[in-house]
Amino acid sequence: MEHSKGYRIAKLVISVVAIMGVFLITRELFQGKANNENTKVIEQSASAVNQTGESLSNEIPTDDQNGEKSLEQLVKQYDDIPIFDAHNHNAGGERYRKMMETWDKNSIERIVLFGAVSSPDAVVTDKIAWEAYLDHPDRFIPFFSGVNLLEESGLQTVKDNLEKGYFGIGEIAAASTYSPILTKVPWKTAHPMDGILPQIYELCAQYQAPLLLHIDPLDGLPISKLKEALMQYPDTTIILAHANAYNTPGNVENLLEEHPNLYVDFFAGFTAYNADSTNKLDDFIPIIKKYPNRILLSTDSGFGLNSELQAIDAIYRLIDLLNDRVLAKQIAYDNLDALIARQPATATQLKAIEELKLTEAQLPNLESLSKLEAAKIINAGRDK
Ligand SMILES: [Zn+2]
Repeated sequence: MEHSKGYRIAKLVISVVAIMGVFLITRELFQGKANNENTKVIEQSASAVNQTGESLSNEIPTDDQNGEKSLEQLVKQYDDIPIFDAHNHNAGGERYRKMMETWDKNSIERIVLFGAVSSPDAVVTDKIAWEAYLDHPDRFIPFFSGVNLLEESGLQTVKDNLEKGYFGIGEIAAASTYSPILTKVPWKTAHPMDGILPQIYELCAQYQAPLLLHIDPLDGLPISKLKEALMQYPDTTIILAHANAYNTPGNVENLLEEHPNLYVDFFAGFTAYNADSTNKLDDFIPIIKKYPNRILLSTDSGFGLNSELQAIDAIYRLIDLLNDRVLAKQIAYDNLDALIARQPATATQLKAIEELKLTEAQLPNLESLSKLEAAKIINAGRDK
């Protein structure tokens, strides 16, 4: 897709005021809370998408304006591709319940669920994510973020939660300089090798559980320390949260190239619909095609956008641009599914299964049992 003259001029202006821009922009985006009522950032690019999650029809503005497909059409066209949202903040109050209809309607089959980020509030939302999982085990994969990354005691929380059956840590603030909220969260670290993060990486390798790291800015010390972490803990899987936001395709590519244990959470909604994005979805297609095993898709619950639905819409635009159903399913579902499915049952889970006193015939092969399978057996036993 060719960039318009206006776009190039806008890009130039943005680069001139880069420092100020980055500051303001990052403030808008990285507040660590997804329920975003602040719509001013995206008014120009996204005015056609309403807050209720209804009818996007053909009204989404585009650069080419020549009859773009509606979201409904795209969902229908790709109804064989389930979507697994890698980053979702709807563990709070009634929020995830309210989203069910939208998820059903748009083939969002599974969701990595958590709520607040690196603060005591997150301890509460982690519990909500867990309850959502118990009620809807096929839909939600609970992550947790309520860990004091600066205290040794945080390690026990990580261990307890992973043992219990949570599938990953995140979103946690491994570095935040610009976000008015994440900068202030009490449990964030200064950089990805700070606090107890190194020990957490070890634990995560042991449990084969990934970490979803928020890092801003995506350059300087935070990134050099991220690289250090990736190299020192090669068996730990780190997912870089919204890696395409306020970052260049080149930087994303370099990270993927140098670090086989890095996964990228691609927040298509930012690139497609946030007015602050200086890229287009097309710009990232070559990287996705080059590293199809380590790209995940997320909505970030529509952070910085009009709605989560708009972030879902962007995921479908990306899938459409890929023009490759196998690759699309891989990044939309299979990569994340594999990260969850590979995790082994924990000692705590095995003990809980033992206590169910299943008959020999009912007993699964405990040697190869996964965390996911163990949870299903335990929950079924609980229901009786
Ligand atoms: Zn987030």
